[in-house]
Amino acid sequence: MHELSIVLNILEIAEHQLKEHAGNKVDAIELEIGTMAGIEMDAFHFAWDAALPGSVLERCKLTIHSVDAKALCSECGYMYRMLEHYMACPACGSFRNSMIQGKELKVNSLEII
Ligand SMILES: [Zn+2]
Repeated sequence: MHELSIVLNILEIAEHQLKEHAGNKVDAIELEIGTMAGIEMDAFHFAWDAALPGSVLERCKLTIHSVDAKALCSECGYMYRMLEHYMACPACGSFRNSMIQGKELKVNSLEII
């Protein structure tokens, strides 16, 4: 499961931060996840609950900020919100675009105790 490896990756980041700041445990964590990051939120929460018992992230407060996907049309330069992977520009109908945001998956902040 793809979501499980993401959770394990976040755990690795948290462990690294704890080591760096000589903390014991993570109290709260904030993630930023793009709507086009390819993450199934149900599967993510399932993986999160499954992977964390006994780890430094156990019982920490999880906050997820969802980031809307935005694309810039390569034809006319119009910027628009992407609701699906292949979406025509609402201004000119072109499918040529570059995604500006929406694929991110990052740890925004960690509260360490
Ligand atoms: Zn356009």
